[in-house]
Amino acid sequence: MSLQKTLSIIKPDAVARNLIGSIDSRFEQAGLRIVAMRRIKMTKEQAQAFYEVHKDKAFYDSLCDYMSSGPVVVQVLSGENAVLKNREIMGATNPANAEIGTIRRDFGESIEHNAVHGSDSEENALQEISFFFNQLDIVE
Ligand code: ADP
Ligand code: MG
Repeated sequence: MSLQKTLSIIKPDAVARNLIGSIDSRFEQAGLRIVAMRRIKMTKEQAQAFYEVHKDKAFYDSLCDYMSSGPVVVQVLSGENAVLKNREIMGATNPANAEIGTIRRDFGESIEHNAVHGSDSEENALQEISFFFNQLDIVE
């Protein structure tokens, strides 16, 4: 077990449906602590930079349009094994395949509009956190 931080994004579909509190309560109930958070609207260029790892995928352009289509909440979650724990709470990428009780199963609309983003490794978490936050923004 190790204390980790991970990046979470509440995506435009979930913010539009007023689900910020419902989603954050899932994190808190699971023992994750929100140690930084900000509501922003990304430009398409910012979304493209954030998702650069997917630039060769067929869904990249649509994903970047979507992620810059409305406000999102970017946040840093802290806790024991936060990276994997967050991925478990989120559920599978496609809400139709996500386990019952996960955020994506309960709140996701489609494989693209799937309510939340979460870092997939500790290394990527550090990189994704620094994309949106500096050290002074993160208060443990
Ligand atoms: P995850 O968010 O579970 O880590 P990926 O990193 O593979 O999933 O994909 C990033 C995001 O791109 C997904 O959360 C989803 O919004 C979108 N996405 C993934 N696969 C598809 C797809 N086949 N069609 C449309 N959008 C997709
Ligand atoms: Mg991913």
